Amino acid sequence: MDLDEIRALVREVPDFPEPGIVFKDITPVLADENAFSTIIDLIVVHFGRGNVDKVVGIEARGFILAAPVAYHFGAGVVPVRKKGKLPWSTVEESYALEYGEATLELHEDAVRPGERVLVVDDVLATGGTARAAASLVERIGGKVCGIACLIELEFLKGRERLTDYDLFTLIRY
Ligand code: AMP
Repeated sequence: MDLDEIRALVREVPDFPEPGIVFKDITPVLADENAFSTIIDLIVVHFGRGNVDKVVGIEARGFILAAPVAYHFGAGVVPVRKKGKLPWSTVEESYALEYGEATLELHEDAVRPGERVLVVDDVLATGGTARAAASLVERIGGKVCGIACLIELEFLKGRERLTDYDLFTLIRY
């Protein structure tokens, strides 16, 4: 399955979750057995087995991609969640979203010092979410070896905020 076929599965939902936002709904990609395995494989191939110790998934759609990527690497999987959801001691980062504001948290012992961490999410928009997740990992001693997002909204220039990282995206708008 090629990337144009996968791109055709992304559903655009205008005015969700609020007026003016065109929401990129990846659920049809996840539900397609060929598309799902292809996107996971492409992320794994880009970063390479043996190069990643932990995969961080960003709530909530990032979790769905992070777990199979981690499995293929033989790596652990770690959640970054919205404030108030994680039960243990956390570090937190607040940032501006394409729509609204948010605070993300990471368990302070989720990554060991020096571990190589890949951050995974569904959509890169302004880059604030990925940047906050990467900062959280670095604050607890992890080394961010890359960021992978299924979709990149290039017109929001998130990539310009993430020039320190190997940013891998599969479908661009
Ligand atoms: P940002 O921090 O601006 O890069 O926003 C990225 C986060 O918001 C990701 O976790 C996405 O799931 C979500 N997001 C932002 N814009 C969209 C969009 N147009 N469609 C789907 N998800 C989006």
